[in-house]
Order: sequence, then structure tokens, then C-alpha cells
Amino acid sequence: MNQNPDLSAAPGAPRIIPRSDHPVSRSNISPNALRVLYRLKEAGFEAFLVGGCVRDIIIGRHPKDFDVATDALPEEVRRLFRNCRLVGRRFRLAHIVYGREVIEVATFRAASAPPPSEEPVPVRSEDEDELLEEELAAAGEDPLEATTPLDLTQPLEVPDFGDGHRDSGSGGAGHRVHDDHGRLLRDNMYGNIDADVWRRDFTVNALYYNIADFSIWDYVGGLADIQAGRLRLIGDVETRYREDPVRMLRAARFEAKLGFVIDAASAAPIERLRGLLASVPPARLFDETAKLFLTGHGADSYRVLRARGLFAALFPAVDRYLQQHPGSLVEDLLVQGLRNTDRRVEEDKPVTPTFLFSLLLYGPIASIIESFPPNRWHEPQAILDACDRALHEAQQRVSIPRRIALGVREMYALQPRLEGPRGRRALRLLEQPRFRAAYDLLMLRASLGLAVPEVAQWWTRLQSVSPAEREQMVEAAPGGARAAGAGVGGDDVAGSGAPRRRRRRRPRSSGA
Ligand code: ATP
Ligand code: MG
Repeated sequence: MNQNPDLSAAPGAPRIIPRSDHPVSRSNISPNALRVLYRLKEAGFEAFLVGGCVRDIIIGRHPKDFDVATDALPEEVRRLFRNCRLVGRRFRLAHIVYGREVIEVATFRAASAPPPSEEPVPVRSEDEDELLEEELAAAGEDPLEATTPLDLTQPLEVPDFGDGHRDSGSGGAGHRVHDDHGRLLRDNMYGNIDADVWRRDFTVNALYYNIADFSIWDYVGGLADIQAGRLRLIGDVETRYREDPVRMLRAARFEAKLGFVIDAASAAPIERLRGLLASVPPARLFDETAKLFLTGHGADSYRVLRARGLFAALFPAVDRYLQQHPGSLVEDLLVQGLRNTDRRVEEDKPVTPTFLFSLLLYGPIASIIESFPPNRWHEPQAILDACDRALHEAQQRVSIPRRIALGVREMYALQPRLEGPRGRRALRLLEQPRFRAAYDLLMLRASLGLAVPEVAQWWTRLQSVSPAEREQMVEAAPGGARAAGAGVGGDDVAGSGAPRRRRRRRPRSSGA
């Protein structure tokens, strides 16, 4: 079977790597994460940094976020930090909120607990964080310093999530959990670090940095795998993918993000098991999609996902389009758009899921439009209908929040209006909240011959000139570009009758 050989046995003692033999220094760790670690330690708990942050520091990258693992129960964590929210339904996690930074604190999981990230944690809205900060400010507390002393003379509150609470006094794995009536609910949700390590996905994500002495605990050879650039699932590969099919996407994401290689045993079953992704809640796949494409390595994620046959599991209709149009302009548009997005991430500029979904759905939207009679290709209603159908189909797999779906519609509805600027109305388009995203899409289309380049340049210029010049430009606006070929066409329209790659789009009498 696809058993990773040295990982099959029950964990023995970890290899403990002293501070002198590893590169993780406190100067690489966010001050807020250090605050959390020290506060837990001072209260008598074990506290480790774990997961991607340890991995990233070792390879010299700046971690995206810091995760903490501890033997403190969620309620105990809550009692230590005023700026703490408990989240998660099946397994409670503590989020310690410092302005925009959230330190996630997870109690060590036992073997029977759901693994990390198996269920989507409800997305914490910024409003919620602001609310928490306001509450703290009203109470005269500085959110950055807010902690409450742990009063061990008080009984712990019963958690409000229906999972009961641990009997005080029990320690280690196999805690007894009772509800208010003393009924045994679940006696092994929380474990110790020896159990926690087996719930993690890849060996490179299973290193623990101990705040007590700054050593790293390595149970599964994670450090050697980081050094070798190798992604290995912990335990029996097929079992781990079946337990949580999202691990296949995570493998692809780490391959793209870190440039690591999935080892043969961990890669082999993906082709056979990728269909299991259909059973993952669409909201979770939305989160994964955002991590794959909006965190600076989107173009690489696309390449890896296609190569491993995983793209079809996320976006079947898009994949179908790309299969039917090999080497297509639409694929060029998608890849170029993803590269532009990666560059924006690198430059610390904001990126939006609305633009991402507009890129992803270009092929399906264009082919739906092209299935209409040519005289409808310009019609705003036809474009909106096509967007709705493409969005609806995509939603069957990956949920697309309403505000994003509305944004995609607006971006597409604006395309023909941008392609046929008419007098003073053009100035009003500049004020549209979606103008910038729609303009970016127009530029991308124009760069590939999917829209008239001169019109795109006209808009670029319009934004850069003085108000007086703007007036002159709109007075003289061509207005006819629309009749000369506006609309959202794909490869079948752009490529018809001419070699696809070389062709500059010519005005078409029928439009679109
Ligand atoms: P990054 O933050 O760079 O995206 P990460 O490895 O930190 O990568 P997170 O989603 O932040 O990923 O998860 C933190 C840690 O939790 C992981 O490193 C891993 O140990 C564990 N983990 C997350 N998701 C899963 C999962 N689906 N199955 C098992 N373990 C997981
Ligand atoms: Mg992380």
C-alpha cells in the first residue's frame, strides 16, 4: 500500500533539536505569537508554535500566520486572554485577536478528534474583530495587551458548544468529557502532543517549536523533508486522503507555493481519489481556492492543479473548456491574469476574489454567449444570463459568495460599455465601483486580441489626463467601437478563420 514506511509505527519519542542546531529564532516570530506562547507558558501550560509557520521560518520565508498548539483547553485559553474568541463547531479553537493579526491556539488533538482544518472555521469578519476591539476599549483595555489573570480558584465555565468540558484534574490523552448532567459525551477529544502530531497532514507541517527551551520537536522526519524539499503525508496515504480529500489540494498548494515535490507514495493515489473532492463542502473549497490563487503563487497553483488532474475537480466547466480548446487564448488570459495577481501580491497591493472568478469563468461565460444567436452577443441581458449560468454551474462545486457573484456580473456587464464609450456616459463609468476591475479585465482581453486594443488605450489615457482634457476626449469619443466588435467572446469567435496566436482581432460585422 502507499504507506510511508517510517511513519507507520506509533510515534516514539520525538527527536528534539536544540536551539543551537536549528535556525528558528524569536526574531522571526511575530511579537503577538510570542506574547501568546509566553502567556500560556507562564500559566503553566505547554505551548508550541506548529505547522506552516515553523516550516516557513526554516526555509527563510515570512510565515503567513502563526499557529499555536497547547495542552490548555479552549476554555482555559479563553480565561487567559480577554482578546480571545472561541470558534469551530466540532473542535473548539481559540483565536487571539490583535488588530488584524489573529493567533490561532489549538488544544492538542487526540486520535479521535477531527484533524486540523477539517471543518471550515466560520470566517471571522473584520467587523467582528472591530467589535471585539471596541468592547475591549470600552472596558478600558488595550487590545494588544488584553489578558486576564487566570483564576484557578474559579470552576471552569461549561463551554457553550455542546461538547461538554473536561473533568478538572485529568491530564494527558483521553480526557473525560461530560455534559451538564454528568453524561459522558466524548472522552478523547483532546490529547497530548504525541497524539496531536498524527492528526497533521505533511511531515513538513508537523514540527513543533517549544517556547520552554526554543527546541524543535520532530516526530516524523519533517526537518529532513524540508531540507530535501519533499512533501510526504503522515501515515497511510490513501486513508489520509479519504479522511480529508482537501489534503490533495493542500499537497498541490504546497508544491506550488514552496516549490517542493510531492513524494511518489503521496502523489500516486491522487489521480484515483481526486473525485472525492466532490464531497467536500463548497464553502471549504472556496477557502482553498482563495489560498491557491490569491496568495502569490496562483499561476504555479494552476499549473500544478492541471498537471495533477485536480483543476477539473474544482472547476469542471472551466476544465472542459480548456480541454476543448488546447493552447487557447482563454487559457492565456487566465494564466496572464494569475501572473498579474501574483505580482500584485508581491507588491502588497490588494487582490480580489471577484477578479479571480472573472478570470476563471471567462471560458464558460464566453462559450455560453457564443451559443446564443450572434445578434444577441452585444445584449447586456445576454451577457448577464451567461454569467448567471456559468456562476450557477461553478457553484455546484465551489461556493461563490453573493457579493462576489454580483461583482463578476458587473465586471462582464461593463465590458461592452467600455468597448463602446459613448460621450459623457463614459465619464460616469469612471465613477462605477467596479470600473477598475472591469478596466483591468478589458486590458487583459485587449492584450490577447480578445478586445480592441485602441479602446483599452483610450481608457488608460482618459484616467491619466486633466478634467478639461477628459471633456475633450469624451466629446470626441469614437462611440462606434462597440458596433465594431464589442462583447465577451472566447476562442471560437476570436480564432475563427485565422491562425489563433498571430491574429489581431478584426472588427466583425456581427459584433461580439
Ligand atoms: P499556510 O499557512 O502557509 O497556508 P499551513 O501549513 O500553516 O500553511 P494552515 O492551514 O495554516 O496551513 O494549517 C496549519 C497546520 O495545521 C498545518 O501546517 C498542518 O499541520 C495542520 N493542518 C491544516 N490543515 C490540515 C488538514 N486538512 N489535515 C491535517 N492537518 C492539517
Ligand atoms: Mg498557517
